[in-house]
Amino acid sequence: MMKMNRREFLKLATATTAGAAMICTADGSYIFPDAVAKADPAAPEVVYYNHCQGCNSGPKCGMKLIVKDGQLIRIERRSEGGHNNPNICAKGAAQVQDIHNPNRLLHPMKRTNPKGEPAQWEQISWEEAIETIAAKFTEIKEKYGADKVMFTTGDPKEPRPVLQRLCFLFGSPNYGTESSTCSTGTRVASYLNYGKNSFATGAGPTPGKTKLFINWGTNPAWSSSYYFETIQKAKASGCKVIVVDPRVTPTVSCVADLHLQIRPATDAALALCFGNALIQADKYDHDFVENYSHGFEEYKARCAEYTVEKTAEICQISVETLQKAIDMILGVEGPMTIQFRAAYPHHVNGVGMARAIQTLIPLSGNLDVDGGQRVSNAKSISLENTKYTGNKLATKGQYDDPTFALRADREYFPVWAECIDEIQLNMLPEYVRDGKIRAAFMLGQNAMMWPDTAAFQKAFDEMDFAVACDYYINPWTHDHCDIILPSAMSPERNYPITTNGMKIYGRQAIPAQGEAHSDCRIVADLACALGFSEEFCGGGEGVEDKIIENILFAGNKDIVAAGVKLADVYAAAPNPVVVPTEQPAENPEKKYRTQDNFFPTPTGKFEFASEVLKKFGFDPVVDHIEPAYSPVSTPDVAKDFPLILNTGSRVPMYVHSRHRQQPWLRALMPDPIVRLYPTDAAERGIVEGDDVILATPFGEIKVKAEVTNIVKPGVIDIFHGWQQANVNGIMNRVIGETLDPLSGFPAFKEGLCQVRKA
Ligand code: SF4
Repeated sequence: MMKMNRREFLKLATATTAGAAMICTADGSYIFPDAVAKADPAAPEVVYYNHCQGCNSGPKCGMKLIVKDGQLIRIERRSEGGHNNPNICAKGAAQVQDIHNPNRLLHPMKRTNPKGEPAQWEQISWEEAIETIAAKFTEIKEKYGADKVMFTTGDPKEPRPVLQRLCFLFGSPNYGTESSTCSTGTRVASYLNYGKNSFATGAGPTPGKTKLFINWGTNPAWSSSYYFETIQKAKASGCKVIVVDPRVTPTVSCVADLHLQIRPATDAALALCFGNALIQADKYDHDFVENYSHGFEEYKARCAEYTVEKTAEICQISVETLQKAIDMILGVEGPMTIQFRAAYPHHVNGVGMARAIQTLIPLSGNLDVDGGQRVSNAKSISLENTKYTGNKLATKGQYDDPTFALRADREYFPVWAECIDEIQLNMLPEYVRDGKIRAAFMLGQNAMMWPDTAAFQKAFDEMDFAVACDYYINPWTHDHCDIILPSAMSPERNYPITTNGMKIYGRQAIPAQGEAHSDCRIVADLACALGFSEEFCGGGEGVEDKIIENILFAGNKDIVAAGVKLADVYAAAPNPVVVPTEQPAENPEKKYRTQDNFFPTPTGKFEFASEVLKKFGFDPVVDHIEPAYSPVSTPDVAKDFPLILNTGSRVPMYVHSRHRQQPWLRALMPDPIVRLYPTDAAERGIVEGDDVILATPFGEIKVKAEVTNIVKPGVIDIFHGWQQANVNGIMNRVIGETLDPLSGFPAFKEGLCQVRKA
């Protein structure tokens, strides 16, 4: 990766972006001289107090957009309203290049040639686009059934409830999101263990309270700077930090007291070993185990199989290092907590790994504990009054609910279908092949995000009708669509989001480019054309505010109870309106677990042995499962593909396939790279910057080599989302081999591969 200091970055940025300059001030603000020059100097400056949508970081960074004469002239960190994030990062600043990018999709377009070849587009009016889509969807509904039309969202996440509402009102249960490959596998784990979503990814440390924090398989130094700062504050207040990661990330370098550099896909073994240590040392929460859990004896027996010696061998770490970690866990005087995020679903045993890690929190007595894992009091905004509303797992499950009988994913992924109220999309090509899905309406859809990308492109080709809404024309997806619609970017639209436990609101700061509309309005206009005008406030200009006020706010009991109106939110700026939730701020008495139905699992208790898994014929107790392809399980395959493939981890300048169009960011990482350990590179005669071929049993791509000790020997690391080198395109989709049979998630972090000089 090219490395530059800030001065060099700015110099390069101004030199490489025709007509797009930027000045970064000492306080971390970004000034855009071109916009300043265009604005009437006499016009007043207007400040919009928003949140950056430059990445999927949670919590969102607060951001001020300063607008003059309709021009975005400056971006500043927002400190008002309790925001405490670091300065806006390069991605946040570079969004100005996104807005004015000459390649943006600015008008509704209809293709004029058959699908399956590079698309030729003809500009059409919004009226024609919406009428055509509504007519086609109605025709398919009448001929084949409403369930044959699928509605999906990618990035951003804010239009999800609006689209779900349309999907369900239309009569289709086939609503899906990009969460089919993001982190929702951890939600499945949380439902199986706890019966609810609240504990999906563990919890970060609380500065001043947490005494031991395990950062398990995440690199917030690159993926979530706001959250990373919290870890740094906790460490400064005396919290010890263990990082579990096959890579020596900046998070390891900055905060780790101990680094467990385990072999990918061995996390369940490590977690079971920790469980065994807690049980053997009698350092577990007896009250929790005896009164609030189910299946402890089976779990205890499974843990006993994972001795320190055996686990060290599986994980490929030393016994001494593993014992050090155990000593830290057993010896901690005070609360411990664990955070893990999107890495764990990306294994064939992903749900199992997440369950094994989650289990350590209540087992060690850190559930309902300040500084441990608290009950989340953040609530998502959801739309009420849809035909199928909300997640229905509770104690009855939703697999058998007739409402969901026509879900396309039901037979493929019964556990996912039981737990999650959106369809699992990784088998979409099969749903299309089987005639379960014939048309799609997609916000921010990206064919490259799926493993075996070509199968998804073919599926879009084979659909009767496919519609995509996006910021740009992305040929890898849109060459396979019939109509594409221009979406407004975040500074160009009004939108509700939830972050940091607050209900907040993003305001449109500048006019949308071309004819772009917010996703919310596009969905509302289509809904009106399909006959749901009343349910979508009549659609049209300004519908976003009407939906927020009349549906989102009116349908949320916390907001109703607080009496909050949109006008209050406007008036409160720069401070956000904080909506109190039911949960008290402090809970030292561990009282949540005593509430009725606190664990809405089939047994009403935390399930060490899952009754849902038993029902569907899976092992109810977590275990380490060796990947279907690994040097251990398939030494014959490993002869030709000896390296372990790790993809999907973050880099600082991109988010998935986003931001490649922004020259300031592209300058920081111009080409797709594969990271190799120095000895692995030397064995292959590869040096830094070489063109190399990355091959898996399912295909190959050409990338550049970065030789670095950031990766573990024998493991490579590659960032995804490159059109010219799509690593997801050289993966396959076989349930139980390369897809987790419980969640349907692809094994992005455990395949086998080889690297050779091009
Ligand atoms: S980390 Fe950067 S891109 Fe992400 S929200 Fe914060 S400023 Fe925006």
